[in-house]
Amino acid sequence: MSVAERAAREQRLANAAALVERCRKCEIGSIRKNAVYGEGDPCAALMVVGEGPGETEDELGRPFVGRAGLLLEKMLGAIGLPRGDVFICNSVKCRPTFDDGVRLRNRPPAPEEMANCRPYLDDQIEIIRPRAILCLGAPAAKSFMGPKFSITKQRGQWFEGPAGIAVIATFHPAYILRTTGGELEATKRLVWGDLKRVRAKLDALETPPQSDTAGADSGGPAPAQPSLFET
Ligand code: URA
Repeated sequence: MSVAERAAREQRLANAAALVERCRKCEIGSIRKNAVYGEGDPCAALMVVGEGPGETEDELGRPFVGRAGLLLEKMLGAIGLPRGDVFICNSVKCRPTFDDGVRLRNRPPAPEEMANCRPYLDDQIEIIRPRAILCLGAPAAKSFMGPKFSITKQRGQWFEGPAGIAVIATFHPAYILRTTGGELEATKRLVWGDLKRVRAKLDALETPPQSDTAGADSGGPAPAQPSLFET
C-alpha cells in the first residue's frame, strides 16, 4: 500500500469520524459522552465489528478498551495480529444505554439505532476495503448475515458480505468473560477454532494459490490453543 493511499484513507476516515461526531439521529447521540468511531490500520486486512461502545469506550471515545477489549487483544494476538494491525469498530458508534433509576446501564443497540448507524459502517468498509470481517456477537453478525443468523449454530462459517468481503462471526469477548465452568472450556475451544479460520482465510487471501494442495486450511498441524482465554 503506497504512503499516499494510506494518507488518503486516513483523511477519509477522519472526515467520516467528524460526521459521526456531529450525528444526532438517535437519542443516544445526545446522551453519550463520546462517539466511538473506531480505530486501527486504514489498510487493515481484517476489520473487527463489535456491538456498541460500553461505559469505558464512551468515556474514552475508543472501541474495545475495557475488559472485553483486553480479551479481544489476546484473541487477535493469538493469531498473530497486533491490535494496531486491524481496524476495530462497532455496529453503532454511540453507547446504547438505559437509565435504571440510579445510573446509565448498557443495553444492546435497537434495530433503528443499528439502521441509523449502518451508513457509517458501510463507509468504513468502503474506505478500508478489508479482506475479511470478524463479527463479535449476534447483533453484529445479524447486521451482516440477516436476522435469522444464529450465533450458536452459524458462528465459524464464512459468509459473503458487502462487496463480496468474507464475513465470519464468533462469540463476543464479553460473553466469554461472563461464561463459567465447563461451558467456558467449550466456548474457548469454539472461539479458538473460529480464530484459526480467520488466520487461514487471511493467509489464503494473501497468498495466491500455487497448486491444488496449497489451500491454507490444509497446511501443517494446527497450532495448540494458547492460554489466551485465561480470564
Ligand atoms: N463491546 C463492544 O461490542 N464494543 C466495544 O467497543 C466494547 C465492548
